[in-house]
Amino acid sequence: MQFRDLKKQYEVLKLEIDAGIQATIESSAFILGKTVEELEEKLADYTGRKHCITCASGTDALVLALKAYNIGVGDAVFVPDFTYIASASCASLVGATPIFVDIDINTFNINPTALENAIEKTLKEGKLTAKAIIPVDLFGQPANFDKINRIAKKYGLLILEDAAQGFGGNIRGKRAGSFGDISATSFFPAKPLGCYGDGGAIFSDDDEIDTRLRSLRAGGRSPEDKYNNCEIGINSRLDTMQAAVLLAKFDTFVNKEIDAVNEVARWYTDRLKEIVETPVVLDGFISSWAQYTIKLSNREQRNNMQTKLKEAGIPSMIYYPRGMHQQQAFKDMKLTDDSYPNTARAVDTVLSLPMHPYLDEATVDMICSEIRKILK
Ligand SMILES: *Cc1c(COP(=O)(O)O)cnc(C)c1O
Repeated sequence: MQFRDLKKQYEVLKLEIDAGIQATIESSAFILGKTVEELEEKLADYTGRKHCITCASGTDALVLALKAYNIGVGDAVFVPDFTYIASASCASLVGATPIFVDIDINTFNINPTALENAIEKTLKEGKLTAKAIIPVDLFGQPANFDKINRIAKKYGLLILEDAAQGFGGNIRGKRAGSFGDISATSFFPAKPLGCYGDGGAIFSDDDEIDTRLRSLRAGGRSPEDKYNNCEIGINSRLDTMQAAVLLAKFDTFVNKEIDAVNEVARWYTDRLKEIVETPVVLDGFISSWAQYTIKLSNREQRNNMQTKLKEAGIPSMIYYPRGMHQQQAFKDMKLTDDSYPNTARAVDTVLSLPMHPYLDEATVDMICSEIRKILK
């Protein structure tokens, strides 16, 4: 059994994907170009944003977005403590300081009350300039933007949505990738919409930011004169081959896969809700189910569950075994579990189960029976 079955997806979409890759090879144009432009238009359309700027990874998308808004040394960027490292390292990479914020234990997303407290504390200390919030759509569920937007407005902060896992989800029809001032996503193969290598994209409604990002991803070249660099940028462009793969997958992703993963999630929740803590999706929120993550009672029970499932041939993952405040890379900040009780609880109890649009009900049934058996 696969944790996320990319092979099955390839079998279903083989004709379209092979044709897209073949056409790229025959065109002998491998970076950016018409195929990438077509993809950017489709993605902008889908999210309801004016601009989509593709780049080489989700990490680069976050870094480029911060750079485009001149966030750097002396600036504070508020980040959920429980996330993938790139949500936080992007701030460090531009010279800013990430401030970690505890999560809501039910949704795993940034806790709005803790966020406001962290902002107040930073303002009171007066060492850093509070600049931006990076809400993460963790495991596919959009962050609580109803509340976060209000906080950002109150303190005049920029919102950079990390939609690397949330792409395909929405809040009352407003799609991930459209929240806040600017959004970033990833096309890493195992993400909801994945390519066959690294890839990412940034979404914006601002014409100037769009122009600046197109320059920044291409070494900082001036829009008028390719060999006159107007600022220092990086090389972070999307390969044409990856755009071809994404275009081949896109319609199926939108029309079938998002519904399919939501059905798989319902099969799991129906069978598991009485015996473990199943994922909580807020009213009006739709998840893209990058992960289906349950909570066990404690670390021992969780670890035992993973071992026993493995013995039964069922793969599972611990996303994530550490919060940002527990990362070696941030050890100099000297942060402790006391400030992050919900992260500390999550890292001990979470377990992500196999989840992808090609999982069938019989397999979900088998996985859930095994979980029930192990808990007895
Ligand atoms: C995967 C991921 C990223 C980074 O994406 P890459 O394409 O792997 O660089 C950023 N944030 C979150 C929440 C992610 O899951």
